[in-house]
Amino acid sequence: MKIFNTLSGRKEEFVPLDKNGVKMYVCGVTVYDVCHFGHALSYISFDVIRRYLEYRGYNVKYVQNFTDIDDKIINRSNERGIPWRDLVEKYISEFFADMDALNIKRATIYPRATEEIPMIIEVIKVLIEKKHAYVSTDGSVYFSVRSFPDYGKLTHQTAAEMRVTETLQAEKKEDSLDFALWKAAKPGEPFWPSPWGEGRPGWHIECTAMSIHHLGRQLDIHGGGQDLMFPHHENEIAQSECYTGLQPFVRIWMHNGFLQLGADKMSKSLGNLVTIKQALERNSADAIRLFIVSSYYRMPLRYSLEALDAAEAGIERMKQALKAEGKPGGTVVEPEQFKTRFIEAMDDDFNTPQAVAALFDLVREINRGNERGMDVGKARDMLKELTAVIGFTLQEKKAVSGELVAKIEELVEKRNGYRKAREWKLADEVRNQLKEMGIAIEDTPRGTTWKLTR
Ligand SMILES: [Zn+2]
Repeated sequence: MKIFNTLSGRKEEFVPLDKNGVKMYVCGVTVYDVCHFGHALSYISFDVIRRYLEYRGYNVKYVQNFTDIDDKIINRSNERGIPWRDLVEKYISEFFADMDALNIKRATIYPRATEEIPMIIEVIKVLIEKKHAYVSTDGSVYFSVRSFPDYGKLTHQTAAEMRVTETLQAEKKEDSLDFALWKAAKPGEPFWPSPWGEGRPGWHIECTAMSIHHLGRQLDIHGGGQDLMFPHHENEIAQSECYTGLQPFVRIWMHNGFLQLGADKMSKSLGNLVTIKQALERNSADAIRLFIVSSYYRMPLRYSLEALDAAEAGIERMKQALKAEGKPGGTVVEPEQFKTRFIEAMDDDFNTPQAVAALFDLVREINRGNERGMDVGKARDMLKELTAVIGFTLQEKKAVSGELVAKIEELVEKRNGYRKAREWKLADEVRNQLKEMGIAIEDTPRGTTWKLTR
């Protein structure tokens, strides 16, 4: 299996550190707002990659963090006049509702920055001891970029090139490229005690501490969007390799392409974001996934309603093929060649457009064979196996009985009671109970709504 490594700039044969296990880390969200289509693109891409690795027999330990303390969270909490912890809990539960609705497999572990403060402090201490970091006069700690000559190796830039985009900030650091590991508390901000005074962790150090804590000192795969390559991932490499003394921190760096609306990258500054909830109101999770995997994960994806609708029609054809009935004694559609094509495509840096093309050729064979009264049973089973690897559910929506509606509404009420009492764990348990029943809930300004996910 070959995977494109951003670090080397080429496709490399994939050999995990441990022959059966894959240690995989993907940067998670900063929980201050709902997720949008760009998150769906990134997390569906890495979900497919993870599912395929599992299909090939690897035991994948997949860690994805929550950044649950950050300037954006503090600002949003002040704007809305709600405690930052409540804001964080709200958007973590919204995140899970969105990801579940998109049929994204849950990570093995979801560490939160605020629960990892001891490890973060431990890493910073060692970096200071090794002279890779320094304490500034206000009690903040900065990483000294000039102490790590390899800085810039991921994005293939020299310090001079990186300085071009760097603006000098009014921070007490020695060099404009240096970045904060620990931020001294400002009045009114949340803080934790540390050897350098009260403060909170910087963003980059969280990922180093959480990935090393949960996966060990070297990872097989580290993923994220291309927008995280610089400075975030360069900083992660600098911190981690200086802390452990081991190289490389990550064997394979993987980055998904940008989402584009028209010619522009989809971003908050454009004010034309599509949230995952809005996308799911219009299209099924399967269609959204098909739209995403029809494009190569490293390439930019142009958001297009026409393409989403075409994907919806494609999903219907797949469902129809899965309903095709086997007729004993007829001619068999031979499915192995489609599986071979599928695996060849996926083994070549997860080339999902080609893998999906093989699936649709199989769909056509099944539907054609079925019309001619052939036995398509084997081919249909193969289609079921391979579509599951991509993560399609291909399930028909079920009708809901009045009895079930009453039961669901009772549970939603119960959960709202817990939420009011700030019993978040109990509220989460009810949400999980609903999820097991195939019900996704959504908290809106007008109250909690629910819908069937299968
Ligand atoms: Zn990260």
